[in-house]
Amino acid sequence: MTSKIFRSTVLVAAVVLLCSLSVVMGVLYTHFTQVQIAQLKDELSLAVTATEQYGNAFLENVEADRFRITWVSADGTVLFDTQADQTSMENHADREEIQTALKTGSGSSVRTSSTLTEQTYYEAQKLKDGTILRISANQKSAWSLMLGMLWPIILIAAIAISLSAFLARRMAQKIVEPLNRLDLEQPLKYEAYEEIYPLLHRIHRQHNQISSQMETLRRKTDEFDQITGSMQEGLVLLDSDGTILSINPAARQLFEASQDCIGKNFLQIDRTSTMREAVNRALDSGHGHTRDKRNGRDYQFDLSRIQSNGSVIGAVVLAFDITEQLRSEQMRREFSANVSHELKTPLQSIIGSAELLENGLVKPEDSLRFIGHIRREAARLFNLVEDILRLSQLDEGIVMPTEAVDMLELASEVKALLEKSAAQKNITISLTGNGFTLTGIRRLLQEAVYNLCDNAIKYNIPGGSVVINVENRRLTVSDTGIGIPPEHHSRIFERFYRVDKSHSRQSGGTGLGLSIVKHAAAYHNAEITLESAPQKGTSVTIAF
Ligand code: ADP
Repeated sequence: MTSKIFRSTVLVAAVVLLCSLSVVMGVLYTHFTQVQIAQLKDELSLAVTATEQYGNAFLENVEADRFRITWVSADGTVLFDTQADQTSMENHADREEIQTALKTGSGSSVRTSSTLTEQTYYEAQKLKDGTILRISANQKSAWSLMLGMLWPIILIAAIAISLSAFLARRMAQKIVEPLNRLDLEQPLKYEAYEEIYPLLHRIHRQHNQISSQMETLRRKTDEFDQITGSMQEGLVLLDSDGTILSINPAARQLFEASQDCIGKNFLQIDRTSTMREAVNRALDSGHGHTRDKRNGRDYQFDLSRIQSNGSVIGAVVLAFDITEQLRSEQMRREFSANVSHELKTPLQSIIGSAELLENGLVKPEDSLRFIGHIRREAARLFNLVEDILRLSQLDEGIVMPTEAVDMLELASEVKALLEKSAAQKNITISLTGNGFTLTGIRRLLQEAVYNLCDNAIKYNIPGGSVVINVENRRLTVSDTGIGIPPEHHSRIFERFYRVDKSHSRQSGGTGLGLSIVKHAAAYHNAEITLESAPQKGTSVTIAF
């Protein structure tokens, strides 16, 4: 702005200077020309009077260095000339001033030299004898006068322009200084020019408006970041070209992208063709979805188009981790298949035995054995249904009432329940430890301890032993049974998993006992450890 003011001022000064010089010179030139013409006229009237009186005698004595006097007869013949030999001069009858003087008594004219550098002013007057006396004087033309004064003009112009440049610079700085001091953040703080106060007020108002809008925007952005930051689902916002506008931490982790992926194309952080197709589908038709594995987990990607005023402005990508969902779907499928299989087996066995009895195909002495078989299979079926119900209750996460449970007392109850079946197999069962009390679900704990002890008896050897130890917030059931080979350790807590199916079935096992133990332990935030070696025995500890 300073340089603009400076340039304009200097330009104005230069133009004004040139115009002034031109006008002054023009006026002066006109004035001096008129003075010269007036002088010529005066000199001519004196010369006319003298020539009429003394004729050639006067003209020959005239000192005509400033003027030139020419005496011309009525036919144009030059009778005398103060600066040339009249005999060598051509006839002057065609000269404008001579012609006018002959007609009207006086005449005047101006002629410019061929080089345009000089102008000659002529004044002519008719004498009483009809001859014409003409006086003339040369004067430099305005153009040549200008050329002659070129250097002084240049000098004056240079001085004037330098001066005006100096003044213009100071003036420009003075004008701009208050404007430079203006703080547009606080436009009303400094005093500037009164003329710009309306503008400053408007800036102040707009500034306030922008500040409050920025604040709202910042708040909304913070809210958005907080919401999306705490989301477990991955969220990516794209513009209509697929450029990333926003990406939350979950999505960054999922796509293994850094924060500076914002501004890049989404397909740069996910190059899979399925994703590219889903993005295009979402932008074209409104929705797109795909499922894929990322970092060893399964994800469902839902893409939706975003529109504003009828035009597509982008798309949003939502990524859900469906690993657990798929796993539990798979487990449910396996569980249903297992359940139906496990239910069918004892039922078929019951139906088969009952049919044989019904059709009288069983010898009377064998009928009791068949009836016993039906009762055992029915009891197993009952246990199975019980265990399935218990597990589905646990799966549903039903809240059960808790109470203070004396674990030593609970173990003693279980021991009492199983003592008979232990004795049948010639197995001793003992209870050791100082015991402890915890707050928990009595029925669930009882079931877990029962299942552990039941297994310790079922998979024991005749004459073996079972020890239940309850102390230091740990309950351990150890046996001297057949043990579990190491390759099965990680799987025996799975539903329906059995190391030896026929052994389990013979002993009335359902394959769900340890699953219930696992759930019960998880319910009480307890940890299970298994120690077992084939032919040596098994020890299962629940650490509360
Ligand atoms: P089951 O009803 O068949 O006993 P569980 O879930 O209780 O089902 O146990 C799963 C499997 O683990 C059993 O089939 C058995 O092979 C093995 N098992 C469990 N406890 C013992 C143990 N104390 N000694 C040896 N094997 C065991």
